[in-house]
Amino acid sequence: MEHVLIIGGGVGGALAHDLALRGFRVTLVEKGELLSGTTGRHHGLLHSGARYVLHDIVAARECWEENQILRRIAPQAIEPNGGLFVALDEEDLAWRERFLEGCLAAGIPAREISVGQALALVPALNPEVKAAVRVPDAVMDAWRLALPFFATARANGAVIRPFCEVQALVMNGRAVTGARIIDHRTGGSEAIGADLVVNAAGPWAGRIAALAGVRVPVQPAPGVMVSVAGRLTHMVVNRLHPAGEGDIIVPQRRLSILGTTAWLADDPDRVAAPAEHVRRLFAQCARLLPAVRTLPPHAVWSASRPLLLSGQSRDPFAISRTFDCFDHARRDHVEGLVTLIGGKATTMRAMAEKSADLICRKIGRDIAGRTRETVLLPYRRYWP
Ligand SMILES: Cc1cc2nc3c(=O)[nH]c(=O)nc-3n(C[C@H](O)[C@H](O)[C@H](O)COP(=O)(O)OP(=O)(O)OC[C@H]3O[C@@H](n4cnc5c(N)ncnc54)[C@H](O)[C@@H]3O)c2cc1C
Repeated sequence: MEHVLIIGGGVGGALAHDLALRGFRVTLVEKGELLSGTTGRHHGLLHSGARYVLHDIVAARECWEENQILRRIAPQAIEPNGGLFVALDEEDLAWRERFLEGCLAAGIPAREISVGQALALVPALNPEVKAAVRVPDAVMDAWRLALPFFATARANGAVIRPFCEVQALVMNGRAVTGARIIDHRTGGSEAIGADLVVNAAGPWAGRIAALAGVRVPVQPAPGVMVSVAGRLTHMVVNRLHPAGEGDIIVPQRRLSILGTTAWLADDPDRVAAPAEHVRRLFAQCARLLPAVRTLPPHAVWSASRPLLLSGQSRDPFAISRTFDCFDHARRDHVEGLVTLIGGKATTMRAMAEKSADLICRKIGRDIAGRTRETVLLPYRRYWP
């Protein structure tokens, strides 16, 4: 069977699981620890898709479909606590009808509840909210959702090599035939040959593509998150308006995460967490849960979304959260290389499935994916 080399051990690395199930030989290399890129550092919202219904219906549908699948195949990683969208002012209220219609169009079971019911569910909610809609959001642990994909991939024969950084692609003319890596644990350098190389390097995908002389439409878009001590809410609380800054609070174990800001960046290795963003997040999220105002930050961090550039918009909140994969033989006349860009942690299984389907078509193999119904191993099984 063909050997596929995957670059990147984040959400995109879930491809190792899909390909191993289809019987491919798989090697995955990751320059740091697994999930040390964006994937280990997101909010942990298992999107129902409702966050996107007002401006990104494709991503909304993808999220809702995957939300339901992940509850079946990775139940141990998910806290099925639900979410609320609340209107804070008249402007938010004006979105209510379109929001409910969007949820209906995406198949998301959303239900308007009274403000009294919302306050009973989330007693810390701002009592001034004007409307509330209940949606099937949930919370996942960023690491514990992703590690089961790698544990299962490994159990099915995939070789996973953290701390191995790709420094060059091995080229034969315009064909990619492998990658040269440095193993940071030993300092040793080696070439890994492959029938196909998959660039799943997230916000770094542009750099990997450049090693083959091609460009890919990836836009690093960092965001700051802040956690405060204590679960101020057991449900995810979102503001009812098109996704924007400081409009979501996610309970995560014994913390509450305030999210998020967004801007466009050139270099995913130089992403700060500006103090001004932290100040804004506190002010904005305190409108949802007033207790936020009284708390100090417990932790502050940032991570970079690898957004797929498709339209003209340069607004980081408006750029779609959907994903795509590219066969560079068709696109750039470079054989042996596929790039996967975009998506969410919530859609990681679907991203892998779409990429594996493309790979099968490309090499002329008709093997159906089985990840929809394959229950993943527990995350602890990642460690032998
Ligand atoms: C602020 C913020 C909040 C978010 N919140 C959520 C949320 O609540 N729910 C949700 O579903 N999604 C969320 N997301 C989106 C989600 O986190 C990302 O879409 C996803 O993690 C991206 O995964 P990735 O695999 O594409 O990139 P990454 O996770 O960055 O993986 C790419 C990997 O490639 C590796 N790599 C790079 N170069 C090389 C090389 N030369 N050799 C070897 N390895 C290399 C990197 O080290 C990295 O680990 C959020 C994103 C951000 C920024």
